Amino acid sequence: MAELIDGKALAKEVRAEVKARAEAFRATHNRAPGLDVVLVGEDPASQVYVRNKERAAAKAGIEGRVHRLPAETTEADLLTLIFELNGDDHIDGILVQLPLPDHLHDQTIIDAIDPAKDVDGLHPFNAGLLVVGRKGLRPCTPSGCMRMLEHVACDPKGKRALVLGRSTLVGKPIALMLLEKHATVTIAHSRTIDLADRVRESDIVIAAVGRANLVKGDWIKEGAVVIDVGINRLDDGSLTGDVDFAGAKERASHITPVPGGVGPMTIAMLLSNTVDAAQARIL
Ligand code: NAD
Repeated sequence: MAELIDGKALAKEVRAEVKARAEAFRATHNRAPGLDVVLVGEDPASQVYVRNKERAAAKAGIEGRVHRLPAETTEADLLTLIFELNGDDHIDGILVQLPLPDHLHDQTIIDAIDPAKDVDGLHPFNAGLLVVGRKGLRPCTPSGCMRMLEHVACDPKGKRALVLGRSTLVGKPIALMLLEKHATVTIAHSRTIDLADRVRESDIVIAAVGRANLVKGDWIKEGAVVIDVGINRLDDGSLTGDVDFAGAKERASHITPVPGGVGPMTIAMLLSNTVDAAQARIL
């Protein structure tokens, strides 16, 4: 029976570390690290995410501000705001909540963020630093997954790691981070034809697809570590991941629950990135 990787408890630890670092920063520089979040439109899920980020930032001693803009905001107006935030010395992190309304192009807006303030790690400059194995701001969810592996003493070195999903937000960066830690990495995606076989041979499985119960429990290799990034809402309103949790936990050595797994880690790593950005900017 697998041991649960408790994302809530681990995120609490990370947030306590961040708080101590934020307080030390304030003591030295007479200001708190600053995180500005931009929310365009009224998407209910995005509103909840932004409120959670705002609350978590305040608790961690980070000066959080939210810019709530109407859904019909033009690209020019949004870019003007981003440039203002780029130029404000008291702002260390800028996060634009995605997805943006259809008339705005996510990539155009992300490209406008100063890479030194890109706490979501999505700017092509930061993505490039990750590819070449250099320090930089890295996407929060994959960083949270890596921290979870570290927490359960799962060293990826020499292990077969399977990443399901190849998005810029999760799949690709987590694959690069696992490679950096010397795993033998396979990336599966929507055109992969032998998913069950790939899962069966993997010591580490990271699922980031967004399809409930895509990964069957009996595919999991005995003793594998399973990190389920997927968030899927079922008809009864409950949340579930991409992995058949009940089946997989009979075979895995460690597994993350959904909810209460990767989700809380994402926000904790965002706060951590904000303090990293603040420290790097004053060097
Ligand atoms: P995405 O839609 O951008 O990417 C999904 C990926 O899954 C694609 O690369 C696609 O090729 C792949 N895919 C589709 N069908 C597949 C199949 N049958 N087999 C293998 N791969 C397949 O999504 P995303 O932004 O990467 O997010 C993935 C999931 O993770 C979603 O459920 C999302 O809600 C969740 N998520 C959770 C957090 C968190 O904090 N817990 C953060 C980000 C995303």
